[in-house]
Amino acid sequence: RAKDAGRNRYRFFEPEMTVATQARMALEVSLRPALARAEFELHYQPRIDLHTMAPVGMEALIRWNHPERGRVPPQQFIAITEETGLIVPIGRWVLQEACMRTRALMADLGRKIVVSVNVSAGQLGNSGFVDEVREALAQTGLPPDCLELELTESALIEDIEHTASMLRELKRVGVALAVDDFGTGASSLAYLRRFPIDVLKLDRSFVLQKDGNVTTSDFVKAFVDLAHALNMAVVAEGVETEEVLQLLRQARCDQAQGYLLAKPMPLDELRARFTQSAPGTRSAARPAAP
Ligand code: C2E
Ligand code: MG
Ligand code: MG
Ligand code: MG
Repeated sequence: RAKDAGRNRYRFFEPEMTVATQARMALEVSLRPALARAEFELHYQPRIDLHTMAPVGMEALIRWNHPERGRVPPQQFIAITEETGLIVPIGRWVLQEACMRTRALMADLGRKIVVSVNVSAGQLGNSGFVDEVREALAQTGLPPDCLELELTESALIEDIEHTASMLRELKRVGVALAVDDFGTGASSLAYLRRFPIDVLKLDRSFVLQKDGNVTTSDFVKAFVDLAHALNMAVVAEGVETEEVLQLLRQARCDQAQGYLLAKPMPLDELRARFTQSAPGTRSAARPAAP
């Protein structure tokens, strides 16, 4: 009998799968109390206006400081929070924290800053989400036009009817809506017209070809013109080289973020960059007037 049990164990659990599953379960166990133990923090990466080159906004990015492992990257734990539903309370905290810190930063600087917050499909599927957004704005005093929500293409295709009505409600609250990682999924601009989207965030891979070279500026220009015609602003993410930055400026892309400009960092470090730069007045959520 022991022999059978042993054989079964081999049948159902491949050795490498056991290791992966155990690692995942260990992470899940330590994720549950992480919010109450204040192990999360937000870093912020500035977004630059490509016309003025001044920072006009920033993306909030979650960081998990695990007590034993040190910093765990979002790529390793966001999926687990989505599968377990932990994304709902964690996402609520991200929203509150980002709004509160941005409101304080704006008071310090005396000018408008738009903060962009990533929203998972699981949060959008939760019927209380719009109220959570309203509450975060009301409790922190952040004006609605200073908050942008980043949604992924996959979140938009999950339940089109529900998503479209929820996005219309969010537009009535007054926040901006962005599609994150555009170019990595299957959706097209034509498809996105069903939703009240203000901003397209071009994934890093959008301007890079398979051979690692930069794509033609005519292609990017045509794309940006089309997005503008549909009343969407275009933000390029993951800009790492001067070559890509120049291409984006030539294509009249509106904004950019990436390691070339600045890495994500704690807000106290970022504050200095916003102080040094000339005040920008253009809204991050609207394309340049034609
Ligand atoms: P994302 O929303 O597309 O965020 C951009 C990611 O690219 C960030 O990774 C950022 O650090 C990285 N990045 C910025 N500039 C460059 C660059 O020039 N080159 C390269 N190669 N990468 C760059 P990060 O912080 O590790 O976050 C990864 C993903 O985790 C995010 O991708 C987002 O999908 C998710 N995420 C992060 N914070 C949150 C959150 O608060 N809530 C939710 N739901 N998801 C989050
Ligand atoms: Mg994002
Ligand atoms: Mg992105
Ligand atoms: Mg990305």
